[in-house]
Amino acid sequence: MRASSLLLISAILSLSFYGCSVTSIDSIREKQGNSTKVETMLEELGSQPRGPIRFQKIVSADWSVDRGGLINLDHPKAEEAGLESGLEPIQIYFYVIDHPENGRFLIDTGMGTIFQKPSEEWPVSGMVQSVMNMDLLKIHTSTSQWLEANGGSPKGVFLTHMHLDHILGSGDIDANTPFYIGPAEATDSMLLNMFVQGSTDNILGSDRILKELDFPAADDSQTESLRILDFFGDGSLYVVHVPGHTAGSMAFLIRSTSGLQLVVGDTCHTTWGWKNNVTPGSFTANQERNAESLNSLIDISKKLSGITVHLGHQSL
Ligand SMILES: [Zn+2]
Repeated sequence: MRASSLLLISAILSLSFYGCSVTSIDSIREKQGNSTKVETMLEELGSQPRGPIRFQKIVSADWSVDRGGLINLDHPKAEEAGLESGLEPIQIYFYVIDHPENGRFLIDTGMGTIFQKPSEEWPVSGMVQSVMNMDLLKIHTSTSQWLEANGGSPKGVFLTHMHLDHILGSGDIDANTPFYIGPAEATDSMLLNMFVQGSTDNILGSDRILKELDFPAADDSQTESLRILDFFGDGSLYVVHVPGHTAGSMAFLIRSTSGLQLVVGDTCHTTWGWKNNVTPGSFTANQERNAESLNSLIDISKKLSGITVHLGHQSL
């Protein structure tokens, strides 16, 4: 065998052993906001449930994907309920945060205008389109259509995580607008990423500015507790690191003009999963950590009366 063939084989073997990151685009570490403890956050939100942020949830698309990805069907509760694999109707959302002083931010990106064109023009490989059932996407509004009709572009975008279905609207957002991501979200290595990295890079765009939020522990003696940032420093938007679904998954607590809002992201995709405290299935990277994060979010929601909970892909 020639040396070049041996080199190629060893490169493929090491790649398949180690996997790769979800994107090859570099991210910059960003210190922003103040770290805070969960008890302090709960006290502040409980005593003042209304706040300065105008919060809107936008339904970008209807979609269907396999239930076994969305819900851990091996969980005793799922078996007891007789849940089986098959298509589950879901939706793709993005959220708009309008802060009176700090301006407009989005959580996740919705659907880009490019996806209203024929699928050959999409920045997603044919294989990934097929695995993701992207032919079943029915777009309600593209992100740029919505933004143009409703007050304009954001100053920044928070990503609950970097799975493809949460970045599909990236092309509708100016390349200078930073995307905020959680710890190790862009660098964590997984085998699956070998298949999606090219599509992720294409959707994000090579100029995209990725800012990885720094989540210092609020209290050194409690390194195991939730890591939380008071992003604007005024108690109106808390960003919570909820690892498990992906390394850098994030959830958001918002004091809005219409009361407290909790954006869970894909730590829980479905209504059934939330009501039964059952984690996602094959779409989750680390079941154990996902379960811990889901427990924490359910616990937070129970301690804040009147809170509205927004799940990853279904509405309660
Ligand atoms: Zn998702």
